[in-house]
Amino acid sequence: MSQAQHITVLGATGSVGLSTLDVIARHPDRYNVFALTGFTRLAELLALCVRHTPRFAVVPTAEAARQLEDGLFTAGVDTRVLVGEGGLCEVSAHPQVDTVLAAIVGAAGLRPTLAAVEAGKKVLLANKEALVMSGALFMQAVRRSGTVLLPLDSEHNAIFQCLPGNYANGLDSVGVRRVLLTASGGPFRETPLPELEHVSPEQACAHPNWSMGRKISVDSASMMNKGLELIEACWLFDTSPSRIEVVIHPQSVIHSMVDYVDGSVLAQLGNPDMRTPIAHALAWPERIDSGVAPLNLFSVGRLDFQAPDEERFPCLRLARQAAEAGDSAPAVLNAANEVAVAAFLDRRIRFPEIASMIDEVLNLESVIAVSELETVFEVDARARALAEQWLGRHGR
Ligand code: NAD
Ligand code: MG
Repeated sequence: MSQAQHITVLGATGSVGLSTLDVIARHPDRYNVFALTGFTRLAELLALCVRHTPRFAVVPTAEAARQLEDGLFTAGVDTRVLVGEGGLCEVSAHPQVDTVLAAIVGAAGLRPTLAAVEAGKKVLLANKEALVMSGALFMQAVRRSGTVLLPLDSEHNAIFQCLPGNYANGLDSVGVRRVLLTASGGPFRETPLPELEHVSPEQACAHPNWSMGRKISVDSASMMNKGLELIEACWLFDTSPSRIEVVIHPQSVIHSMVDYVDGSVLAQLGNPDMRTPIAHALAWPERIDSGVAPLNLFSVGRLDFQAPDEERFPCLRLARQAAEAGDSAPAVLNAANEVAVAAFLDRRIRFPEIASMIDEVLNLESVIAVSELETVFEVDARARALAEQWLGRHGR
């Protein structure tokens, strides 16, 4: 084994970040934590710094930096604290970093993730919103820098595992007919439709199979998560939305499938635990222990499949429309969704209004070509302003 890889974990205090650190801690000979970043959970970030002794930690403000520095000093840990987006980009692009794990939630992850791509780091991508917002530019940057981009999202990691190594020349060239993107259907798969008016943030965040951050949990409940993943898959695997079929599979044991022209369908199975795709992407093309228990098919018993119901899950239809429209439409969709999910979590709107707000913002904002990153941020800001106006009229 050569030297340990130096890893930056963007979003270390989140669900994916913590799962990553759990896998990394199992392989101290292979991985060394170079930088950890956090946002609000400073006590957790301090505990992670004490445990992993990174060279750098990044926090959002000077005040947070002072607090963390005090804690580090008391604990006798020699970690340097950096601040804000500049700090995030610095630890992503630092010459001593080999691998960046992009696990910040939402648009806030875009610049630091792109900084890692542009610096040619190996990038393990959980932050799907970054790719949804800026897909064409993001993938251009990947090609330009020749970086290795590996998907951590369990579905995309599964698809990657089911594809041959030379798929980059196009899915047609390797005989792929369709990609089957599986979805659990979330906590409201069978809730009577009129009751969706009254579901709470707590109910939306109680995912039946996966334990995740609050934003992606609400996205899973609305199936916007699958919509964002559809767009993510189009960019990662250079294919069109029409080639991707969403399949509801409530057990979340199959993490996605690839359907080939000869009739073969390859699937990747496993327990629903993010440590599997994280370990896969960290070690690829090798395999390492992730700490995940072996899949017990006898206790799973059965695997069910059903087609998604677009009346129940209008966000899926909106995302497919945005994917087909292309250009700036996915960035509008993403921004409106981020505002809508935050408003739902704050109890300012009802669950079905998430889709209503996004629908209206998509209708109001015309689709424009995107050839530079600044345009993405302008589109994002305009869509957020429209969503806030909608909230002003309809929110509590
Ligand atoms: P989380 O809410 O648990 O964690 C989010 C992390 O981002 C935290 O470390 C937080 O400090 C940081 N963060 C939040 N806002 C920030 C900001 N403005 N600036 C800098 N840092 C900020 O979320 P999560 O569930 O770990 O998800 C992270 C990303 O991974 C999301 O894009 C999500 O869609 C994706 N993802 C998550 C899972 C999962 O199982 N949780 C699976 C697949 C993909
Ligand atoms: Mg996923």
